[in-house]
Amino acid sequence: MRVSTGRATQSDARMFTVVVECLGVGSQRRAERRLTVPFALLQSLVGTIARQGGRIKAVIAADGAGAADGLAPETTAPAAPSAPAPSEVAAAPNPPAAPTVSHADVPVNLYKPKAPFIGSVIDNYSLVGEGAIGRVNHITFDLSGGDPQLRYVEGQSIGIIPDGVDANGKPHKLRLYSIASSRHGDNLEGHTVSLCVRQLQYEKDGEVINGVCSSFLCDIEPGAQVKITGPVGKEMLLPADEEANVIMLATGTGIAPMRTYLRRMFEPGERAKNPEYQFRGKAWLFMGAPKTPNLLYDDDLNRYLAEFPDNFRYTTAISREQQNRDGGRMYIQDRVLEHADEIFAMIEDPKTHVYICGLKGMEPGIDEAMTTAAAAKGLDWSTMRPQLKKAERWHVETY
Ligand SMILES: Cc1cc2nc3c(=O)[nH]c(=O)nc-3n(C[C@H](O)[C@H](O)[C@H](O)COP(=O)(O)OP(=O)(O)OC[C@H]3O[C@@H](n4cnc5c(N)ncnc54)[C@H](O)[C@@H]3O)c2cc1C
Repeated sequence: MRVSTGRATQSDARMFTVVVECLGVGSQRRAERRLTVPFALLQSLVGTIARQGGRIKAVIAADGAGAADGLAPETTAPAAPSAPAPSEVAAAPNPPAAPTVSHADVPVNLYKPKAPFIGSVIDNYSLVGEGAIGRVNHITFDLSGGDPQLRYVEGQSIGIIPDGVDANGKPHKLRLYSIASSRHGDNLEGHTVSLCVRQLQYEKDGEVINGVCSSFLCDIEPGAQVKITGPVGKEMLLPADEEANVIMLATGTGIAPMRTYLRRMFEPGERAKNPEYQFRGKAWLFMGAPKTPNLLYDDDLNRYLAEFPDNFRYTTAISREQQNRDGGRMYIQDRVLEHADEIFAMIEDPKTHVYICGLKGMEPGIDEAMTTAAAAKGLDWSTMRPQLKKAERWHVETY
């Protein structure tokens, strides 16, 4: 199967949607799928579909010009792109893997530490309820007036340089924070960014130490001016495919990028702003917290659950209140194990992406749960995981 991309060139940044049948396993083989890739990956995707017995029904340019350009299967091919063939890796024994995350037009480092953007604080409020452990705040900055405009997309982070100097009298270094608002901002006006910040606190030699930047942010007052850098990050970008499935594993402030995805998927005002992204896939959030009042953005998540019961699933692991199968504390990896069959069935679908965000300590537990779950199916997680990663379907940002 060779496919013409009409006026495409090697440096073409356009996206193409391949409509395909008979791909995947079991009942999935009957379903029609739409896989969206940049031009550079189109040829390899077509090759993989052919190798896996899929039937291409149409290839459509994302700007809708495909048909008019004569884009159709069984026509002339462009010069073979030199991009890697990501679909040659498999997530499970046979499932094809097709990257659908577009890195095109993702802003990076518009503002650097030497010349940061100065944003003013619009809002700063607590996200945790009474009886919660620790402090976690939602903080919003005004980004208007910059040249260039400080813009970002879902899944990116920004840097904050706290006021003051370090122990050596030097200006503080920046700290990164995952962006918690969608690109349109919480007010949907397109010139704000929000963060979800936990104040770092620990004890040393009997003294309570407060983290420099997280305390600076949690204590900050509306109107204050803050040095902001970035945005950065392409690891946690959301696939452009409206029919992708998105499994999210978050602990604590790791909810920040997940909130941006879920707002983009389900918040009515967001959906109205994004006619090209009317999410129709399955989104499943696993959220870990120590206590119920530590569940962040819980009201919004329950609203999405009520409004989109066919598309959204929300599973919590509340370690100090719930027990796992062995009577121990319920962590997110215990929930992963409980739902291993469903998670693996989803991962077999090349449209499924997994996102992990939160404290570094969550990774080994999830790996262990996936190893156990895979072994029960006769699969080897240590082989599958790098394949998923290479296929850009396994996204991790832990800190
Ligand atoms: C990509 C990325 C995204 C992030 N997103 C978020 C986010 O969305 N929300 C969020 O709250 N944070 C996030 N972070 C973490 C954030 O960047 C800061 O690291 C965090 O806020 C702490 O910074 P601080 O200045 O308050 O702490 P610092 O004053 O810099 O103190 C941190 C240092 O304290 C020491 N320390 C920490 N804990 C202990 C302990 N228990 N015992 C002894 N010493 C200790 C360590 O030396 C550590 O390096 C993210 C980090 C990255 C890399």
